Amino acid sequence: MASRTYRAEAIVLKTNDFAEADRILVLFTRHFGKVRVVAKGIRRATSRMAGHAEPLTHATYQLARGRELDVLTGAEARAIYRDMRDDLALIAAGWYVAELVDRFTADRVPSAPLFDLLETALRSLDAGMSAPVVCRWFDLHLLDRSGFRPELGVCAHCRTPLAEGTNAWEPAAGGAICAGCATRLSLVAPLSVRALKSLRFLLVSDLDTAARLRLDAMLAHELDRHLRAFVRYVIDRDIATARLMDELRDLKPPARVS
Ligand SMILES: [Zn+2]
Repeated sequence: MASRTYRAEAIVLKTNDFAEADRILVLFTRHFGKVRVVAKGIRRATSRMAGHAEPLTHATYQLARGRELDVLTGAEARAIYRDMRDDLALIAAGWYVAELVDRFTADRVPSAPLFDLLETALRSLDAGMSAPVVCRWFDLHLLDRSGFRPELGVCAHCRTPLAEGTNAWEPAAGGAICAGCATRLSLVAPLSVRALKSLRFLLVSDLDTAARLRLDAMLAHELDRHLRAFVRYVIDRDIATARLMDELRDLKPPARVS
């Protein structure tokens, strides 16, 4: 008979309080995929595990199999990401990558590559890496590892190589499309040369290399717009934390953005 308890390295994607002092945690585990667990009594002041039941905590959790939900029985922290939590732009980016992982995964489908992607993004945000660079790198690599890699080499519509000039972006076609196809399709967004080059660079780079990308406000906004449209097309819904990041960006004086 299988053991009732097991250990799982995981990052908390989100939490939901319920009953008097309980909390549901949505864990993204390295080996078992996304798992919902209940932390009983976690909101009481005496709970020893309270510090491990917050969103974006990386820990090794001890879990007991339950009839419906598994039950949290112990935790050892691996990373709290304290510096990320002190900066509103960084923590918002952390919530954003966690929301995307939640949207792109089904329960109990293991994916170590996605776990590594999430862990890398959070660790880099905690180290103070630019939130727009981390988010756009994450968008592309999440799409790639989930089987939705955008076409960036040839026109996604007619398959001719993309010219060195303004092309267009069309998520429904699968990525970049040529200027010729763009004139025949309606409602496509212009794709600048430097945005296309930046997307290619981000897709082939690890995050430390990607951090060399210089994103001015205009380029950051164009990449954000294109990838958000692509992600929204794939998951067929808006990303709540992306709107929060818009609001935070608009709060900042323009000099800080550029
Ligand atoms: Zn074309």
